[in-house]
Amino acid sequence: MKMSADVKLVIEQNLVDVRSRISHAAERSGREANEIVLVAISKGQPVEKIKAGYELGIRDFGENRIDEALTKQLALQDLSEIQWHMVGHIQSRKARSVVQHFSLVHSLDRWKLAQRLDRFAGEEGLRLPVLLECNVSGEESKNGWNLQDEPSWPLFQPEIERILSLENIEIQGLMTMAPWVVEEDVLRSCFRKLRELNEFLSHNLHTSWNELSMGMTDDFEIAIEEGATMVRIGRAIFGDRQ
Ligand SMILES: *Cc1c(COP(=O)(O)O)cnc(C)c1O
Repeated sequence: MKMSADVKLVIEQNLVDVRSRISHAAERSGREANEIVLVAISKGQPVEKIKAGYELGIRDFGENRIDEALTKQLALQDLSEIQWHMVGHIQSRKARSVVQHFSLVHSLDRWKLAQRLDRFAGEEGLRLPVLLECNVSGEESKNGWNLQDEPSWPLFQPEIERILSLENIEIQGLMTMAPWVVEEDVLRSCFRKLRELNEFLSHNLHTSWNELSMGMTDDFEIAIEEGATMVRIGRAIFGDRQ
């Protein structure tokens, strides 16, 4: 398939729009736009669109399925400096692949997976950056540690301490997915809760990580206002998925 100039133009306009919205939201939260990492979520999008995004300056791309991601990485291996982010649920048997092919894992959601990532990272001779996926909305369909109720937060501490003790993975922050609702106050309180959880951990465990990966196409401005340092945006950049 040949990429039409139109497709690139649309992505370019979308990017201008997304970047300006990021920068206004950052301003409202007293920060600079360049303090917020834009991860372009390219799942379900053709390689040609990723290439167009790359030519427009995007270097951080996110995928949620290993096999799809590996096919794309192979097709795009000539493009230098791409950082691939893993944002989807990871099956334990795919852990080695994740270690080998991604720069940052947003979706570490269980102890067993932490152990496997640590083991394979050790074997590969690297230290893998990860974020802990937290379910703070209480939706049952969501992955991640269930941390909706604040009183349960202290129970999470030993688990985090165990993960902190793994030498080959490095926790850089927390990640969450907002619930599938449109009410702004519900979304906002979910993002705020992740930030508060992060403050709780920093206070109690003296953690020094500071990434908060939260916010997607429909809610990234609210997430930034509540402290997101990384936003994961797909459709607003690339259009609807195939
Ligand atoms: C698909 C996906 C996104 C991006 O969703 P959009 O609505 O297209 O912006 C972000 N994060 C995760 C974990 C996803 O699976």
